[in-house]
Amino acid sequence: MTVSDAQQRILSFFNVLDPVFIPVDQCTGRILAQEITARENHPPFDNSSMDGFAVRSADLSGASADHPVLLRIVADIPAGAAPQRAVAPGEAARIMTGAPMPAGADAVVPVEDTDLYRSQPQSIIDAEVQIYRAVAAGDYVRPRGQDLTEGQVVLKPGRLLQPQDAGLLAMLGVASVPVYRKPKMALFSSGDELVLPADPLTPGKIRDTNTYTLSALAAQHGAEVLNLGIARDQPDDVRQRFEQAVSAGADLILTSAGVSVGAFDFVRAVVEAQGKLNFWRVNMRPGKPLAFGEYKGLPVIGLPGNPVSAYIGFLVFVLPALNKLAGLPAQQRAQRTAILAHPLESDGRESYLRAIYSIENGQSSVSLTGHQGSGNLHSLVLANALLIVPSGVKSLPAGERVKIWLLNPDDLPRQE
Ligand code: AMP
Ligand code: MG
Repeated sequence: MTVSDAQQRILSFFNVLDPVFIPVDQCTGRILAQEITARENHPPFDNSSMDGFAVRSADLSGASADHPVLLRIVADIPAGAAPQRAVAPGEAARIMTGAPMPAGADAVVPVEDTDLYRSQPQSIIDAEVQIYRAVAAGDYVRPRGQDLTEGQVVLKPGRLLQPQDAGLLAMLGVASVPVYRKPKMALFSSGDELVLPADPLTPGKIRDTNTYTLSALAAQHGAEVLNLGIARDQPDDVRQRFEQAVSAGADLILTSAGVSVGAFDFVRAVVEAQGKLNFWRVNMRPGKPLAFGEYKGLPVIGLPGNPVSAYIGFLVFVLPALNKLAGLPAQQRAQRTAILAHPLESDGRESYLRAIYSIENGQSSVSLTGHQGSGNLHSLVLANALLIVPSGVKSLPAGERVKIWLLNPDDLPRQE
């Protein structure tokens, strides 16, 4: 089976989750589930962009430092106040940044361009102000609706909400934000050889690695992870974990190991007793065996046990499913290209190879991190990219342009 066939078959089992409403202060990082339109204009009223004096611009034609115009102050308008009185010819209102423009005034003169630059402890109503410059109608005024007009679409569903979006939603009065529910992914590792990280290695044992990689990947991509620990190679132990996932209302069960053709591969047998499990030989490297099925109606993905295969299997098969559940495009990993730094042999399978992507003198370059054994997690840690060799390709010369995936999207090289 090709990688893309396997991806499509898996994706067809998943649908976007229902929306839930969450407080706006918790929405960053969640996926917007409904279109948001502006319910109001923003700014909601014409207001001053400076501390100064609201004036009628016609009063100030010809005003300058040498020939100031004298205006009588008739009102004091702090931010948050509603103006009580209009400004008539020959008058001005003291106004603060963000305060509403009074009727009659059409511009603001910054306080720096007047003789009342110093703070005035006493009331300045009925005092006079000298204005040292002319202004045009609209100067230093932020008109109603300049930023957003009522009814305008501001955010579309499917958007990964950012901190600035939270601010915009709050600004528009959207206190409760419709987002998709987070996918709940149940996870367990399986194998009699596995012990916990804090445990000593007794003969024949290795430490469980995949639980940590896979739960972190899922959490990093917005899923809620239900960690069901390590199942022993016994049908009852495996079955019990599937049951826990079902009763916890998981959207997906992810397992690693125990799905190959080894004699102790119980995961497959347990799922088949309560549903069905397809066992695919996907034409990819690393990680040929992939299990996919349903346990009591709950989708199950079984990744290979080798730590690098499990990691790459997650990116290729699990992440698109989580994305679809979460309301994101299934395939949204940014693909790039780079120039292969050395010749490369492949075996004709679609390959995801650990690689280092760099930019030297404006030229992108990619080279392998070394031994590509599917158990060698260290070479994945050394990598910052996966180099993708398409199926059917057996060798690539140095200088060829190849496809890559960046492993950590925050590690984008600066230039390109
Ligand atoms: P299996 O798919 O059960 O045949 O396992 C393939 C290889 O992956 C074996 O060498 C296992 O010991 C190893 N393996 C399986 N599960 C894990 C895990 N959770 N962490 C680290 N290695 C694992
Ligand atoms: Mg095993």
